[in-house]
Amino acid sequence: MPDKKVLLEIKGLKKYFTVKHSMVESKRKYLKAVDGISFVINKGETFGLVGESGCGKSTTGRAIVRLYEPTGGKIIYDGEDITNISPKEMLKYRKRIQMIFQDPYASLNTRMTIADIIGEGLDIHTDIKGEARMERIHDLLTRVGLKKEHASRYPHEFSGGQRQRIGIARAIAIEPDLIICDEPISALDVSIQAQVVNMLEDLQKELGLTYLFIAHDLSMVKHISDRIGVMYLGHMMEIAESNELYEKPLHPYTKALLSSIPIPDPRAKKEGRIVLEGDVRSPIDPKEGCRFSSRCRYCEEICDEVTPELVEVLPDHFVACHLVKKINNL
Ligand code: SF4
Repeated sequence: MPDKKVLLEIKGLKKYFTVKHSMVESKRKYLKAVDGISFVINKGETFGLVGESGCGKSTTGRAIVRLYEPTGGKIIYDGEDITNISPKEMLKYRKRIQMIFQDPYASLNTRMTIADIIGEGLDIHTDIKGEARMERIHDLLTRVGLKKEHASRYPHEFSGGQRQRIGIARAIAIEPDLIICDEPISALDVSIQAQVVNMLEDLQKELGLTYLFIAHDLSMVKHISDRIGVMYLGHMMEIAESNELYEKPLHPYTKALLSSIPIPDPRAKKEGRIVLEGDVRSPIDPKEGCRFSSRCRYCEEICDEVTPELVEVLPDHFVACHLVKKINNL
């Protein structure tokens, strides 16, 4: 069972981007990519963060490692508020928080050998040099299912799956506590996806890692996640333990996402697919109210007037919906 000690706490995190305005408009506009989300990740667990493209999940991951400066809210790591610490102080946390990217090719420097890509973190954060450095690189390559001989090669000599393995070796090289996996399997063949997920799980057990696993569909995170958060247009809509979310989704958006997962066994019973109609609301200066209201079949007047808070509806099951009790007969 995962240790229940909180490793990362996100409190009301916001990340707004300024949108260019025309000459006639004097008021600045903001694209509210992440707009006040809160969640915690316990040590040793995998927290899945899911939502359609543009919901703010990757922006959240990037704000945590400060690739983006947060606009508001707090990021508390192992009890320390790291939201506004200096780049120098952040270096200490960069060693503890690593990231794996969606596009393994774009995230690897094509002019560097694999040894130098994996060794870069060792050079910045440790005193490991010379033979010991090379031994460590060889060990890391073996751990991720590659060979020692691969150390002298270049990224273009590898397949997509192998490149993602190199990205993983780079991330674990400096023994982090938390890895933010930003859609690490979305760009891979289905046959390779399971291998990479299994490897991430093995590494988690061996090295005691904690993961924030970002994905755009729920089928991808089901296997690996202990708990899952569902985002929609910059807001957190539902958070629950993984099995609970699959068996008893309470938010209309989660229900729709789940209903769109294909079932491998055609004999298995499945509720009808919920097709979302209506336009997605604009994330630019969105109005007060539920962000999902334009596509929600249960929408009532209050939904467009008041933004619903994320509240605990069942034990450890949080939902942001005014009508959650009515919709689910709770
Ligand atoms: Fe639908 Fe209203 Fe609930 Fe939003 S608050 S999900 S619009 S019922």
